[in-house]
Amino acid sequence: MAEEKSFKYVIVGGGVAAGYAAREFANQGLKPGELAIISKEAVAPYERPALSKGYLFPEGAARLPGFYVCVGSGGEKLLPEWYTEKGIELILSTEIIKADLAAKTLVSASGQVFKYQTLLIATGSSVIRLSDFGVQGADAKNIFYLREIEDADKLVEAIKAKKNGKAVVVGGGYIGLELSAALRINNLDVSMVYPEPWCMPRLFTAGIAAFYEGYYANKGIQIIKGTVAVGFSTNSDGEVTEVKLKDGRTLEADIVIVGVGGRPLISLFKGQVEEEKGGLKTDAFFKTSLPDVYAIGDVATFPMKIYNDVRRVEHVDHSRKSAEQAVKAIKAAEEGKSVPEYDYLPYFYSREFDLSWQFYGDNVGETVLFGDNDPKSPKPKFGTYWVKDGKVVGVFLEGGTPDENKAIAKLARAQPVVDSLDVLSKEGLSFASKI
Ligand SMILES: Cc1cc2nc3c(=O)[nH]c(=O)nc-3n(C[C@H](O)[C@H](O)[C@H](O)COP(=O)(O)OP(=O)(O)OC[C@H]3O[C@@H](n4cnc5c(N)ncnc54)[C@H](O)[C@@H]3O)c2cc1C
Repeated sequence: MAEEKSFKYVIVGGGVAAGYAAREFANQGLKPGELAIISKEAVAPYERPALSKGYLFPEGAARLPGFYVCVGSGGEKLLPEWYTEKGIELILSTEIIKADLAAKTLVSASGQVFKYQTLLIATGSSVIRLSDFGVQGADAKNIFYLREIEDADKLVEAIKAKKNGKAVVVGGGYIGLELSAALRINNLDVSMVYPEPWCMPRLFTAGIAAFYEGYYANKGIQIIKGTVAVGFSTNSDGEVTEVKLKDGRTLEADIVIVGVGGRPLISLFKGQVEEEKGGLKTDAFFKTSLPDVYAIGDVATFPMKIYNDVRRVEHVDHSRKSAEQAVKAIKAAEEGKSVPEYDYLPYFYSREFDLSWQFYGDNVGETVLFGDNDPKSPKPKFGTYWVKDGKVVGVFLEGGTPDENKAIAKLARAQPVVDSLDVLSKEGLSFASKI
């Protein structure tokens, strides 16, 4: 007979959202044995963004326990002992392969059965692989994806093994940009390849992207746009040696990193709970269409109150805040109380080389570029406003101070009216600072 365990609350997935949910449960009051976190990963919840940044530094690299949650938002590190002290069962290296939401039961790959009263789904995203599109040779050795700490460890090994070698980064989004920088810092010869006319097209305007592309080129990174990888050559050990591009060119490669996007991990729950926009549909408290089942972090499609829309957000700030909101709502409901609706202001950020940018709000409407966006400037500081229906709805800022970043967040929340785009262009950052 398979082992069966019962908990009042189970969190499936042990990433960022799970860690922040655990802390919130502890803050709200939790009895020993009430909460379990079941995670495929072998380590306690950590701040995932570190994997594409400090984890890959050639010197002084970030390592656990240095970046366990909740250190990324200025909180205390939750070490494995913390979970033990709180009576939270951390069930690691355990993949759930079956979920029966009607029977309130989860089953692991090794046949363990877990029962719950309330379930929080926090399975996050998985990477899209080139083999999913049938790209020839895509399963060669030294072609890497980055999602979990295990992936990062393999990459670190390869960087050591292929010292001063050639790296090709496929994809021009967050992962592509951060990984290209990390590899360059490790002294690899880096080329980036992406099909779009500029990097990060989902967020960046052509003007923003031109700065980063110029900066990367100055760092010696070759950028190849308008084409994609269609195949890979390998040596007799099965290691990648070459990337074949659609435009007929080939690039030598000792290491390839692919960052072409992710998709939420929701297949376990297919047909059992409502979906929307590729995620699990929730209300403003992250409750799904089933009572006692919540979805937090990357997997949740939730009401974005500020824009009167429903959206899914794959960013760390939302994963933390959605987790806290869900737990507060669960605990309040137990006492017959309620909490205010989630009212999220989108916030994204990234760091590469000495650069650091933040974005708040919505990137829709017309845009105005301001500031010094010369990639050769010793201290570049520039930004972009997005204006829709006469209101400033989004702001991007590279090189902002903490106070300036606070100011742009405030502005994106306030959505002030502007008379003309010229005003924003002339006033630049001082427009945000006076809100
Ligand atoms: C390399 C990298 C860098 C990033 N950098 C940034 C950044 O700079 N800024 C930013 O805003 N966002 C960044 N993100 C995105 C951010 O990390 C995610 O939005 C956030 O981690 C989502 O939290 P989550 O808890 O929903 O999912 P995750 O943190 O991905 O956690 C999901 C967990 O569930 C586990 N799991 C999945 N399925 C199962 C199963 N069936 N059984 C058991 N366990 C399971 C996984 O193993 C994982 O531990 C980055 C992401 C990556 C991968």
